Parts: sequence; C-alpha cells; structure tokens
Amino acid sequence: MSVLFDRIALIGIGLIGSSLAHDIRRLGLTKEIVVATRSADTLKRAEELGLGDRYTTSSAEAVRDADLIIVSVPVGASESVAKEIAGSLKPGAIVTDVGSTKASVIAQMQPHTPDNVHFIPGHPLAGTEKSGPDAGFPGLFEGRWCIFTPVANTDETALKRLRGFWEALGSKVDEMDAEHHDKVLAIVSHLPHIIAYNIVGTADDLETVTESEVIKYSASGFRDFTRLAASDPTMWRDVCLHNRDAILEMLARFSEDLAYLQRAIRWGEGDKIFELFTRTRAIRRSIIQAGQDVDAPDFGRPHPLDKK
Ligand code: NAP
Repeated sequence: MSVLFDRIALIGIGLIGSSLAHDIRRLGLTKEIVVATRSADTLKRAEELGLGDRYTTSSAEAVRDADLIIVSVPVGASESVAKEIAGSLKPGAIVTDVGSTKASVIAQMQPHTPDNVHFIPGHPLAGTEKSGPDAGFPGLFEGRWCIFTPVANTDETALKRLRGFWEALGSKVDEMDAEHHDKVLAIVSHLPHIIAYNIVGTADDLETVTESEVIKYSASGFRDFTRLAASDPTMWRDVCLHNRDAILEMLARFSEDLAYLQRAIRWGEGDKIFELFTRTRAIRRSIIQAGQDVDAPDFGRPHPLDKK
C-alpha cells in the first residue's frame, strides 16, 4: 500500500492507539509514526513493542510537522490534549480522534483547534475489553465501521483523505451528525455496557449467593456479561459522563421495557414473553447476516470435546 501521510502522530497508545500503530506500520501508510502518551511507563512499553519511530511524553512535540494526528485518549481528556497541541499543529494538518462520544469531544476540541487545521471527529466501532499498549493488534478495524461526525464547513479534500486512511485499514466509513451518533451509540454500545456493569455489580452484592457460587456457575449466562463489565473503568466512566443525556434517555426506555417484562412474568403472560424472545432472536440473526459477528455457538468458545 502507498504512503498516505508523511508523518502520523498518535496521541494515546492504548488499545486503539496501538492497534492503529500496528496497522499503519503493516500497511506502510506513513514514513514516520510518532507516539505520545502521558506516562513514562506506557511510553516505555510502547517503545519495547516497537509501535513507533519516535516517542515522547509531550503531545505538543509529537504533533510538530505531523500531517495526521489521531487522538486516542479517554473522552474526558480531549480538551486538555486539544489545548496542549494547539500551538504546535502544522497548517493543513488533519486532527481526528477515536472517542466513543462525539458531541462532547467536539465541544472540548473544536474551540482550541486553529482555523488552518482540519478537525474531523471520528469513532471506529471496534474494540475489546482490554486496554493499554499490549492490548492492540493488527486487523482490529478490518470489516468494522468508522463513523465521522464532521463539523460545519469541513474541507472535502481532508475528509476524503481521512476516509481513504480508514478504508486502507479495512474499515467501512459512514458520516452522521454528532447528536445522532451519540443516540445510536447509547443504545448499541453504552447501554449494554451499563447493564453489564450493573448486573455484575448486583451479583457481587448478593448476600444470599456466595461469590464462589457466582464464579463457579458463571457459564450459565453471567460470564457473557463479565466480558463487557471488565472494560476499562476510566474509558467507561468518561463515556457515561460525556453522553449523559442520550444514555439517560435510553435507560428510561430500558426501565419501561423491563417493567413490561416484569409484569408479563408476574402475571404469567407467556405469549408476551415468547413474542419478545422471538423478536430478539431475529436481531441476532440479522447481526450475523450483516457480518458483524460469526455464527459459531457460544461466541465460538472452544469446548472440551472439540476436535484439536
Ligand atoms: P486505553 O487502552 O485505556 O489507552 C488510553 C490512552 O490514553 C493511554 O495512552 C493513556 O496514557 C492515555 N490517557 C489516559 N488518560 C489520559 C489523560 N487524562 N490525559 C491524556 N492521556 C490520557 O484506551 P483505549 O481503549 O485505547 O480508548 C481510547 C479512546 O478510544 C477512548 O476515547 C475510547 O472511548 C475510544 N474507543 C475505545 C474502544 C474500546 O473498545 N476500547 C473502541 C472505540 C473507541 P497513559 O497510559 O500514559 O496514562
């Protein structure tokens, strides 16, 4: 593949930043990767893993002369990063991010981004429950969506260049406004994580069931929630605080629907329960048909008698 940007600065080198580094290198999309992260420990690890060509704890230094800057930090840290890099950005550079909430990131970053720089907010819908530079891997974005939420008067050429970058990583790119993104993500990502955190927390609090029983019998359903509930606490705290309105709206709807199900169970209304469970099963089939998951039973986990 050809070089798309002469120098790329990665600000934040956790799961997303390091996965980007792997792919940028593997696909030869730049001549130089500059890695910046706030802590010396993470920077050292990134260097040991060979994720970049240059390393620094100064975001301002990292962005100097960079053509593409990708900010991959918890969304609550967006403003401080935007302020730190503002004075060092090269005219004509593209600044993008990967944050899971968009209206808040725009509000935090846009006011500090100079007019001669292209700011294009983005969000790759790809990830795992792991974090840190060791968690990244090549191919994370392959076949996944990346959503841009462009601000007013975004330069078409810059947009096209950034689209080309994500497409080179194997992503499919979509555009929508930030408020719409935040609503959609509240239901498809934020609510499921909040429910998982809550159910695992409830199980942890139950006094009638001991912790050892929760763990011993977890394969009956509980462990599927624990994957989501093991996600990075800082990242998810920030998502909750920075997509508050959409999340609260979805939680209100969720509570209403739960009350409906609760009532159906109380009154023995099997037809209502059956109808709901049939509808939800069809959603799983649609997800598989859309290529967003594979049709392996039990999420493809190996079982004891599987052929080696
Ligand atoms: P991560 O693995 O926890 O890495 C976070 C990175 O941000 C590290 O380099 C960390 O630096 C740095 N950082 C943390 N707090 C900071 C602060 N206050 N100021 C400056 N830098 C800070 O996180 P991630 O999973 O890559 O997530 C990064 C972004 O991607 C988040 O906005 C998240 O919403 C978004 N995202 C995540 C996923 C996912 O599944 N994880 C998917 C799509 C989008 P140090 O280690 O040096 O402190």
